Amino acid sequence: MAAEIFSVAFIFYKGGHRFMNKWRLSRRPSMIEDESLEGFLVRVSQINGYEDIDDHSKFQYHYSPVLNEIKNNKKYILNILYDLAEVLTGQEIIRRNHDRKYLSSRGLLFGHGCVWYPRLTRYCPLCLQESKYHRIQWSMIPVLVCDKHLCFLRHKCHECDHFTNLKATITGICNRCERDITVQYDKVTREFLFEHPFLVNIDYLSDKRVFLHLTGENLFKLKKWLIFCIVNINDMKKKSLWIQYSTKSTVIRITDFDIEKINDYLILTDNLISNWPENIIKYANNNMILEERQHFINTFFKRKHSYGNMDIINFLNRIKVNS
Ligand SMILES: [Zn+2]
Ligand SMILES: [Zn+2]
Repeated sequence: MAAEIFSVAFIFYKGGHRFMNKWRLSRRPSMIEDESLEGFLVRVSQINGYEDIDDHSKFQYHYSPVLNEIKNNKKYILNILYDLAEVLTGQEIIRRNHDRKYLSSRGLLFGHGCVWYPRLTRYCPLCLQESKYHRIQWSMIPVLVCDKHLCFLRHKCHECDHFTNLKATITGICNRCERDITVQYDKVTREFLFEHPFLVNIDYLSDKRVFLHLTGENLFKLKKWLIFCIVNINDMKKKSLWIQYSTKSTVIRITDFDIEKINDYLILTDNLISNWPENIIKYANNNMILEERQHFINTFFKRKHSYGNMDIINFLNRIKVNS
């Protein structure tokens, strides 16, 4: 299947010179190894003087003639942004950005990867001090800390509190108040990371590495499911976060744009999953009344999913057998 897609893309790439030349931009930087596709497109646009294109939400409007022509000329469209980047720069992108495809197809990317997630752009201030482009790992949902600099990823300007957009990660300057967004950062210690191992970006690009006897992908599914079940209980009282879990696709849909709440839940579920299954049982005992606890346990442990491998009983069995 993958080979087929690549060969179609290659034919398009080789055979579409006239069509491609028409839209090709004059300045064509290369894509950096760990650069996100959306960040690259914003960077290319900015370098060529299209200052209005400061975020991935602008591609559709500003590049609509190119996008329409791609749609008319191509039989198979995997992700039209790959094609757009290839047409604008004359470089082959799909094969080079394979990690992004892997993460995106598993629902691991914020905003830029999947329409269900909030459109947020995070960044590491210290990475930006070194070089200014948008790293793919900043979009990864479970990643809260830059593993290179041991500091929390940010998503807001420290001066005016405005959400950063992709242009800000390319210029290092706040898109509202124009102050330097790279000067403020919060370091974490190695001990903290040791206690919160899932916060660091090390294992999500490989489906071979296991933790708690789960693959990274399954662990993430488990976390999403756990967040859903906890929010469902909390939601009866305060409606803090609107969240929907599809048993068909194992995708969680989060419509609240407040990243801090989502971060809080990610940290909470990290803690609950560690020392399995004691922490989670303790949490249920200490934080839920009997009725809530029964509902939570029934939902989280007993519910069978109609599609995929999202079977908690299965997770539990494996953990018990191995521990
Ligand atoms: Zn960094
Ligand atoms: Zn600002």
